[in-house]
Amino acid sequence: MRPEILFPLFALAGVLPGVGPRTAKLLEGLTGPHVVDVCWHLPVGLIDRRYAPPLGAAEPGRIATLTLQIGPHAAPHNPRQPYRIHGNDETGEIELVFFHARPDYLNKVLPEGEVRVVSGRVEIFGGRLQMTHPDHIGKLEDLDSLKTVEPVYGLTGGLTLKTVSKAVHAAVARAPDLPEWLDPAYQTREGWPSWHAALTAVHAPQSGADLEPTTPARQRLAYDELLANQLALALVRHHQTAQRGRAISGDGHLREKILAALPFDLTGSQRQAVEEILADMAQPARMLRLLQGDVGSGKTVVALLAMLAAVETGAQAAIMAPTEILARQHYKTIAPLAEAAGVTLVLLTGRDKGKARVAVLSQLESGEAHLVVGTHALFQEDVAFHNLALAVIDEQHRFGVHQRLTLSKKGQAVDVLVMTATPIPRTLVLTSYGDMEVSRLTEKPAGRQPIDTRALPLERLGEVTDGVGRALSEGTKVYWVCPLVTDSEVLDLAAAEARHAELKARFGERVGLVHGRMAGRDRDAVMAGFAEGSAKGSIDLLVATTVIEVGVDVPQATIMVIEHAERFGLAQLHQLRGRIGRGAEKSTCLLLYLNPLGETARARIRILRETDDGFRIAEEDLHLRGAGELLGTRQSGFPEFRLADLAVHSDLLATARDDARLILARDADLAGPRGQALRVLLYLFARDAAVRYLRSG
Ligand code: ADP
Ligand code: MG
Repeated sequence: MRPEILFPLFALAGVLPGVGPRTAKLLEGLTGPHVVDVCWHLPVGLIDRRYAPPLGAAEPGRIATLTLQIGPHAAPHNPRQPYRIHGNDETGEIELVFFHARPDYLNKVLPEGEVRVVSGRVEIFGGRLQMTHPDHIGKLEDLDSLKTVEPVYGLTGGLTLKTVSKAVHAAVARAPDLPEWLDPAYQTREGWPSWHAALTAVHAPQSGADLEPTTPARQRLAYDELLANQLALALVRHHQTAQRGRAISGDGHLREKILAALPFDLTGSQRQAVEEILADMAQPARMLRLLQGDVGSGKTVVALLAMLAAVETGAQAAIMAPTEILARQHYKTIAPLAEAAGVTLVLLTGRDKGKARVAVLSQLESGEAHLVVGTHALFQEDVAFHNLALAVIDEQHRFGVHQRLTLSKKGQAVDVLVMTATPIPRTLVLTSYGDMEVSRLTEKPAGRQPIDTRALPLERLGEVTDGVGRALSEGTKVYWVCPLVTDSEVLDLAAAEARHAELKARFGERVGLVHGRMAGRDRDAVMAGFAEGSAKGSIDLLVATTVIEVGVDVPQATIMVIEHAERFGLAQLHQLRGRIGRGAEKSTCLLLYLNPLGETARARIRILRETDDGFRIAEEDLHLRGAGELLGTRQSGFPEFRLADLAVHSDLLATARDDARLILARDADLAGPRGQALRVLLYLFARDAAVRYLRSG
């Protein structure tokens, strides 16, 4: 249950003075529904009203707070003309200008013959000073309260700055003092204010420097948010690993056979990853490890060795891919190796039906099958294992967390290895998996040629096609990628189909097409035709939508054309490009872009030409786009932050992770005094679900 002290913050924003139902609704869209959401709406700029010159010295264009002797009012004859009020001081004169004026009101607030203070932008019009619609009007005694610095907030249609400022002010005024959850030594060292003082300070910037994300107040709030995130993840993980796992360490006899059968030696980072995984599996706690490796870095072999370690103990292992193509490809790669090791491998995808499926299910249930490769079909309820010990999940971000857990429930204390070819920046790994163990494949297998990446405007399509023709006649295989153009799959498809027809008219039957809406069997047939060596009847030029993005491996393909490269994200382009450069031949990637190129698209292409280090590309992508956009945050389950900016606060994230770890080591149930304060923190950032993992409420 949410602690009582937070009730004022979790009231709906409609309780705030000056916020009626209409404003509440608009505020909800802008900030979120609760008072606390309004508090998190940080200023993005400021208006300095401290400039209070005599009229003779007032600089046009600046915001100024002026003390005026109010002169006569001039009401217009034509209501479309403005209402004017004369003002002066010893040094000069000004006109205050009002459109659609209400004279009664203006006579009341700016009575002729009195001294009044106005604040707003000073302009020059027809050679004379004027101020249109002052932002503030007050009496002389209000001068000090008007001569301040005002925060500026992001707005939405229908809300004025005045309304939003008032709501934020009222929301912050409701904020209670909260118990301190920071480690006192850390707080002192950083010189951070209390939560309440920090919240007040961020809404009262005095200069541009106060808006920087690195001020003590902003850092503190960002840290609070990151600590809540890390603590919640640590609690979930603590709960998972506290469940008893089992220690798995095979004798190595199967792995030896595989290593002998492989036509290559493992790279240093493959060897290290295998070691790390085996060490985890040998622990009695459950493994939860992420294997990150760029496209082509050789994750499959690493996974296979881990799987065989499980089989060596008499258990089973499963590997799950996000698409049918990939599952079949894994199956094809693993099958000869499994045979060399003398273990039984089966395949289970959504396309297996009837008798074949029943046979596979019974092999899994009896334990006759040692290894299984599959798709989502592995999650189905009627799939039962004899003794599943390890689940490998490839290309994880296409699966939900829920599915990951479903598979791990199909055995007792199943170890989980998650593999991703999207090199997620360290910071994002932390925010979405928490303190998950990570192995990274940083080396490329030996003999890989670097890819020559070039960018060309789309106008040169004709030349590119000619070049492709020459390459085809020399026996090269070529990918031709058409982008997702619109939200409509149908239109995207039409574009790919048109390009396919065009290329086919020129190059004949050796041109194939794959796209996401094709029946699986047809798609596999085309892919198989492309994977074949160049021969009569083979496919040599493959037009594709982004279905080839993940995992597909055709080493003979050495040219890739990407149309409208400006529409792809950096990581996505890198993934696509990873389809080539897999063999011993030199590869070329042609990025065709539509002029004029925007700044971000230009930067993406530059980075891509500079490096093919997926980890560096991922970090650059984070900076170019911000964490939210990186992987399509909303769908992929990556958290979004309100106060923390991962491009700036990643050092705080690392500290928060260590802090969370230490907190749980000392007080796993958050029962002590700091623990109680940390519970408040979890609720403050709506991590209610994590609190359920605590023993005592
Ligand atoms: P990914 O990490 O993209 O899944 P794969 O596991 O599909 O990469 O491996 C890509 C290709 O590299 C495969 O053909 C695989 O056989 C090969 N490979 C893997 N490890 C090595 C190695 N150490 N040396 C040479 N080739 C390797
Ligand atoms: Mg792979």
